[in-house]
Amino acid sequence: MSCCANDFLLQNPANGKSGGGNGGCPEEDDKRFLSVAIAEAKQGLKEGGIPIGSCIVHKGKVLGAGHNRRVQKGSVILHGEMDALENAGRYPAKVYQESTLYTTLSPCSMCTGAILLYGIPRVVIGENKTFMGEEDLLRSKGVQVTVLQDEECMTMMKNFIRDSPKLWAEDIGEVFDGKEKASL
Ligand SMILES: [Zn+2]
Repeated sequence: MSCCANDFLLQNPANGKSGGGNGGCPEEDDKRFLSVAIAEAKQGLKEGGIPIGSCIVHKGKVLGAGHNRRVQKGSVILHGEMDALENAGRYPAKVYQESTLYTTLSPCSMCTGAILLYGIPRVVIGENKTFMGEEDLLRSKGVQVTVLQDEECMTMMKNFIRDSPKLWAEDIGEVFDGKEKASL
């Protein structure tokens, strides 16, 4: 049973109502929106890509969701968070400043830069065990960082890093050391 009253906002994103802020139960909301990011990550894996997904949420409404598409698009910038921001499209600064970004994995320095540039005040992270991004930098700039240590996110990344260590090294800008099996 959900303790949140704003389910309809997610199911009917065209509904123009703002919902009047977070209301309801933030923990339930976080799990629900993280599941949107997880679904994106799974889609990415299905496409032969890297299983990291993200979505940006404004007052209970998903503005955009996306997944890492570096492999699929031959892109150097489309990490999950960047893809979600790109898919959301252009918004006035105020909207970002009232939004929460959800991501299945701790955000790297590039995605952290985008979060800081647009003044997104809150980031919810699926896990940071397989990769620790720039969470300290986010916090030092006043961003509220919540890490859920979600089992599904962790398993997805562990399996991916184990199976595709070279692709993973490339994604985080590391020189591949030639070990075909990572130590995770
Ligand atoms: Zn990134």
